[in-house]
This record gives sequence, C-alpha cells and structure tokens, in this order.
Amino acid sequence: MRTKKAIAVLLAVVMLAIPFAVVSYAAPEIVAQPIKTAYTDCEKFIPQGLVISFDGEEIPYTPIDEDFAFMPGLDEYLTVGVNADGEDVPYNTVEVYYKNQYAGTIQVEVSHVLGEITNLGEAGHGQYCLGCGKVHNYEAHSIPEFIPNDDGGLFVPQTQTGTCEICHGKVTETIPGSEGFRFIFGGEMTEFESEIIGYFYMIVVSLIQALIGIR
Ligand SMILES: [Zn+2]
Ligand SMILES: [Zn+2]
Repeated sequence: MRTKKAIAVLLAVVMLAIPFAVVSYAAPEIVAQPIKTAYTDCEKFIPQGLVISFDGEEIPYTPIDEDFAFMPGLDEYLTVGVNADGEDVPYNTVEVYYKNQYAGTIQVEVSHVLGEITNLGEAGHGQYCLGCGKVHNYEAHSIPEFIPNDDGGLFVPQTQTGTCEICHGKVTETIPGSEGFRFIFGGEMTEFESEIIGYFYMIVVSLIQALIGIR
C-alpha cells in the first residue's frame, strides 16, 4: 500500500516536471549582451554582439538571421524611457524574440539630443530635441532691463522692450502710464499704488478713446 502511494506521488511529480523541462529546454535565452548600450533618440538599436541560447545551441545575432525579432524594431528610432509619472528616465528596454518566442529584455541607455537654446516666443526659451522634437529645459526669459519705446501719447500707454540675455529673444510689454501720465502723476509711487492708478488710467483711456476717439 505504501509503495503504491509512493509510486503515485513520484508519477505526479514527474508529470508536473515534464512540461517545465520541455519549456525550459525550448525557450530561447539571452547569454551575451549587445556591445552598444548607450544611444540617443536619433539612433536605432544595434544588436551586434547579442548571443542567445536555444535548443542547447548558442546563436549569435547576425543581420541575415531572420529568426531574430526586436521590440522596438530595428527600423524604429529608440525613445527615451518614461516612468509612471511621465518623467524621463535614462534607460529604456528592447525585447528580444527568437523564432517568435520571447528570449529576454535588454536595457539600453537612451538620451535626448538637445539643440541650441531657442526663443520660443514672449514667454520663454528652451531646447528642441533633434530626436523626439519635444521642448526641454523650458524657462522664462531672463531680461535684465526694459527700454521704453517712447511710442505712447497722453492717452495711449507706451510700450517697453527687453532682450533676453540667454536667447536674445525680444519681449515687448505695455507700461501702465504714458510719458505724459508719468509727467503729470510723477514716478514715485509704490508698486501697489501704481498698479491701482494704472488700472483706473486704463479704464479712463478706454472710455476717452471710445467716446472721442483720441489717440
Ligand atoms: Zn528627445
Ligand atoms: Zn530667452
């Protein structure tokens, strides 16, 4: 009775183990990593140096071996990896398949190729990536001083223009108060006072312009 039980258990173990043995024997596996591991997002994956084991054999990658397949494909540009929050991480992965079976995942470093700092309009500057085309390092212009354009009238606010010291982009903004307005009210107000007066000034200007069309 005991022997029967023991044989039954042994049989069960062998039957359980057989499929695992078959699968582990058949599944391809990466045994040597490709030579090139660092890329930019202007480049495509190069598998040279990759070796897999399959059916007890070691098979090095060659471009003519059509049994190899990759995700992303060899004709696709690599992309910079992102984490769950959508932030860039310095690596990404390439999945390797052999005869349509998953062989493993290769970790590659992928970085952006940032172009020169470019003026991106009134708000700021940044750098376009030559690979993915996205803007990186976006920040506000750095404008050390604004120069009045002397283009206002008594009832038309003047403008002032500043040049960004980093990208040389120009920013023009309206100053609440023309030369004439400043002459009348003086320049020695706090920021808050001048904001309030500027606000009413703009209303009065709009009203006068609407009523009699003075410029
Ligand atoms: Zn990029
Ligand atoms: Zn700038």
